[in-house]
Amino acid sequence: MPTDPVPAGAIRHAGGCLQPVLLRGRVDHIDGSTGELIHRYTTVHEPGGLLPVACKTRRASRCAPCAEVYRADTYQLIRAGLSGGKGVPAEVADHPCVFVTLTAPSFGPVHAWRVRGDRVLACRPRRKGRTCPHGVRLSCNEKHARDDDRLGEPLCPECYDYTGSVLFNAYAPELWRRFTITLRRTLAHRAGLTGKAFATQARLSYAKVAEYQRRGVVHFHAIVRLDGPTGPSTVPPAWATLSLLTDAISQAARAIQVRTPAASHVPSRTLTWGGQLDIRPVTPTGELTDTTVAGYVAKYATKAAECTGTLDRRVTQANHLDELPVRDHARRHIAECLRLGRLPQFADLRLTAWAHMLGFRGHFSTKSRAYSITLGSLRADRAVYQRERAIAAGLVPALESDTTLVVADWHFAGRGDPPSIAALLAAAAVSAPASPPGGVPCPGSY
Ligand SMILES: [Zn+2]
Ligand SMILES: [Zn+2]
Ligand SMILES: [Zn+2]
Repeated sequence: MPTDPVPAGAIRHAGGCLQPVLLRGRVDHIDGSTGELIHRYTTVHEPGGLLPVACKTRRASRCAPCAEVYRADTYQLIRAGLSGGKGVPAEVADHPCVFVTLTAPSFGPVHAWRVRGDRVLACRPRRKGRTCPHGVRLSCNEKHARDDDRLGEPLCPECYDYTGSVLFNAYAPELWRRFTITLRRTLAHRAGLTGKAFATQARLSYAKVAEYQRRGVVHFHAIVRLDGPTGPSTVPPAWATLSLLTDAISQAARAIQVRTPAASHVPSRTLTWGGQLDIRPVTPTGELTDTTVAGYVAKYATKAAECTGTLDRRVTQANHLDELPVRDHARRHIAECLRLGRLPQFADLRLTAWAHMLGFRGHFSTKSRAYSITLGSLRADRAVYQRERAIAAGLVPALESDTTLVVADWHFAGRGDPPSIAALLAAAAVSAPASPPGGVPCPGSY
């Protein structure tokens, strides 16, 4: 009899993950008063004796099914912070709230897709087209297509400021940190309050996501909201208006800067946000609604630097820079990261480790504590739901949670084999996933 090549359990536990973590082990449920073993889950009965567990990556380039779960969860938590739900009161929709885009400055002219209305405009028309010291004309009259490979590439790579671009990426998290501190101070000042008094009346909440532009620099999109003193469930004070918030953001964004250290052949420089600052109100019926913004942020939460044509993994010593399968523009960024990474003044930026991200080592999506619910709470809700379903289906016994001891013993047993992906997917198409496993903690429920 042919053996079933498809570990059906793999599908139901790993939720379609393409690179599952394989675990071996067991979970015992023990009666706390008698010491009696009530229930045992063991991977011995799983195909191959292994339990595949979803990798849970947020990155769509690594595992699309897991990234989709992450995207959907991010959408839920971002939206809850805009219009309520999942325990956040609906009144949060009345709090002053804006969607801000903080960009990077220019590090040299690049090919760009420019439009006005429906019309595509010329990339960089200059009647008196100057040429650079390398003999390259610093103008481009082409009307580029949206998918033109040259978009984001410099007109002259020799002139392009790769040092500035890499340092901007590396210091972007610090720029953001300073921005939030300055914004609180600015808001307090505009309301005529001290910092302490501000905290007793209002609270600043935000959720932000980093997005790479094709030219290789990150910029940030952020939802910034003003609440009452304890967060979304308290009413903001009367002075907390949309226009006060907008003005304060504009003032704070333009005020902050980071001075980089001077190193050998790298003079100190002052980094700021780019001149393009976009601040738009988020309202239930306006141009930017809760669903548009949540959809936008969730989409970018699953992306990394792939649009810049870089690598999806770290550059190691074994890699020869010339042989990396990357765009030349990305290669020059990576080379600059490796060069600056050798200088002691930039050691804390860990540029060698983050060369594949062109210098950016920050988190892709972050939020302040009181913004909304957390991804963890969404996952915990899902685990409870799945456990209840498993109990209802008779797969696991209903146990008294306060008198039952749960003893888990898990061992890492490797990574799912990529060649089996096709088989897994084929199986997923023919057999509907069964209920999730019983046993707590259920590593398969995410
Ligand atoms: Zn996965
Ligand atoms: Zn062009
Ligand atoms: Zn040049």
